[in-house]
Parts: sequence; structure tokens; C-alpha cells
Amino acid sequence: MSDIPSLVRRMPWPESASRPVGTPIQPSVVYASPDPDTLDAQYEGRLQGYTYAREGHPNADVLARKIDSMEGVSGGLVLGSGMAAVAAVLMGVTRAGDHVLGGDQLYGRSLRLMREDLPRLGVATALADPTDLAAFEAAIRPETRLILLEVVSNPTLRVADIAGIAELARARGILLVIDNTFTTPRGFQPFAHGADVVIHSVTKILAGHSDATLGYVAARDPALMKAIYDFAVTTGMTPSPFDCWLAERGLYSFELRYDRSEANAEALAAHLAGLPGVRRVLYPTRSDHPDHNRAVGLLGARGGHMVSFEIEGGRAAANRLTRAAPNIAFAPTLGDIGTTLSHPASSSHRGLGAEGRAALGISEGFFRISVGVEDIALLCREFEAAIAASQT
Ligand SMILES: *Cc1c(COP(=O)(O)O)cnc(C)c1O
Repeated sequence: MSDIPSLVRRMPWPESASRPVGTPIQPSVVYASPDPDTLDAQYEGRLQGYTYAREGHPNADVLARKIDSMEGVSGGLVLGSGMAAVAAVLMGVTRAGDHVLGGDQLYGRSLRLMREDLPRLGVATALADPTDLAAFEAAIRPETRLILLEVVSNPTLRVADIAGIAELARARGILLVIDNTFTTPRGFQPFAHGADVVIHSVTKILAGHSDATLGYVAARDPALMKAIYDFAVTTGMTPSPFDCWLAERGLYSFELRYDRSEANAEALAAHLAGLPGVRRVLYPTRSDHPDHNRAVGLLGARGGHMVSFEIEGGRAAANRLTRAAPNIAFAPTLGDIGTTLSHPASSSHRGLGAEGRAALGISEGFFRISVGVEDIALLCREFEAAIAASQT
């Protein structure tokens, strides 16, 4: 007779007097409670205990508590993607008849949610330039319930008037939601600047290795957080425990990666600005940036890890540039540990059309760099060679 009663039953986990140093992964979908009274206590919040992974699981919570600590909040929630976080807020908090106002250079899918999906559900929306306080104020309506902003815009790296808009929102009781993906909690602290809700695409530099798709949302008001949580869980925006584990592992080195990427970005921006064929370089803390004063006031010396630049020569030159930089991934993402290059006219902003792009200053020679942690001398050499090749 075997000691194993049935292969169908779970084996007890081996005892160990020592504990694992690494974070365990817990993929279990369900959790068994000892009796119905205990289950009651769990559902009523008198006892902490997991029930079903869609409602929450340990790997998501471990990750959420770390991001909470960076954002100076408690009770944040990790979801299956950054867009899940944006959707959970916009759809979990508003009702038909409400109005939502957004910055006019939001992430592409956030713009789609504002333009297509919310109106379909009876929520009116408008977009306004968040660097122009008067224009933004003029777009507020009596029924405006929520304002969605990104601090630094993609790809022109314009800096929103967060202080001015936070004051407008506070005076009118409008919720201020800040997508802090570009700036990260190391570069900017939205809750200290009047935000009611903070969102992240954890997929980007927080996780940092382009191998996990996740989002995060936290609200200062627990009742608001409960509404967001209930909508997210009901609509199944649950993250995978494996992805949460990868992202939590990424966070151990987040501060090192961010600081190195940012220092590289600042140095690379300065280098690019001196190269022939480069029409302009955009980096928030550079003195020639259109929002330089606001950037310094809001971000201090933290210009972030994103740099944009424009070369002479249009699409043909752009094609030559990416081909001449085979070691820099030409890929429409950001926040990877290595440097990646994106071309908004053919990717994130292709839907705008040439006229819409021209209004934002995005030409065929416009590139956005997500700067990684490589040796800065190598990066400067590679970009210099690629830009020289683009101009031949
Ligand atoms: C990438 C991104 C998102 C969406 O995040 P996913 O994880 O890709 O769903 C939202 N906002 C910003 C600013 C982003 O860069």
C-alpha cells in the first residue's frame, strides 16, 4: 500500500525550517477554507483570506503593495494591463450623463476609449490641451465628473499644467486621474500634486523587461477604490500570477534602471542636439523645451527616460536610420531595460493622418527613444552612426 492515497489529491507541501528568499509563485485559482463560518468571515473582511483568483491572489497583492509604497498610498490594485487600469477607472466610476475630459495627447488606446467607447455608453467626452490652462478650463462642463491626464505626453514630451488643472478639479469636485506611466513614481508623485487616482502601465519601466503585460490603479478614497475594484473583478481584468511575479522581480532593480536610463537620456539628448541632420531634440528639462519652466517646477531635475528627436529627410531618411541601427530594437514600446526606438508616424500616431500629425509636430523624420541602461558611450556612437547613415 502506498502512502499516497490518490494521485488526484494534492501532496502536502514539504516542511522546511528555513524560508525561501525569493518570492513564491502561487498559481492556484481557488482557496479552500476550513468551514462556512470562516468563509463568511473572509467575505465580510473580518479575516484575511483568498477565495478565487479573479477576486485577488498573493502575487498580485505583493506587487501592488510595492507600487503602493512608491506612490504613497494603500489598497492599490494590479490588473491584466495598463489599459485594463484605464478602463476600470473610466468605466467603473462614470455613469450615463457624466462628462469626461482628457488631455489631447493621451496614450492611443486611452484616446479610443474616450472617443468611441465611453460615448457609446452615454458618457460624453472631450479632449483639450493640458499645457494650456485657459483652453482646459473652457472645456470643463457642469457635468464633468473626471479628468484624465498624463504628466509628460507621448511622443512630443509636452508637460501638462498639473498644478493649474488640479486646482480647477479640486474647486469643482472633479476627480483628477493621472496616468503616471511615463514619469513613474520616481519622477513624479501624483497624490502629492492633487490626484485622486493614479494609473500605471506596469508593462513599461516598472516591470522593465518587456515580458509581462500588467497595469496598476490606486485611489485615495476607499469607496472610489471599491467601485474600481468591483468593476475590474466583475469584468475579469485579473492579472496572471506569473506576470505579477515577473514584474515584482523587475521592481527590485527599478530604481537603479530608472536612474541610469534617465542619466543616459539626458546625456543622449545633449549629444543628439549637436549632430548634423538633427532638426530638434525634445527632452523636458532641456532649456530649449517648450515647457522647460513647468518641467523644472514639476519634475525638478528628473527629465525621465524618454527623448524625442527629428531628423531631416522624411520617410526615406527614417528608413535608413532604423536599418543602420540593427542593435537598437525598432519597436513601438517603452521602458525596456534596453534602448528601443519608435516612429510615431508609422505606429502610435498613424491613425491621426498626416494633417493631425503635423498639428502635433510629428513629421516622418520624428523618432521617440526609450533610453535603456546601456553604456552611454555605446548609445551615442550607435545613434551618431545611424543618423549619419540616414542623411546620405
Ligand atoms: C503603454 C501605456 C498604456 C497601456 O498599457 P498596456 O500595459 O500596454 O495596456 C497606458 N498609458 C500609457 C501612458 C502607456 O504608455
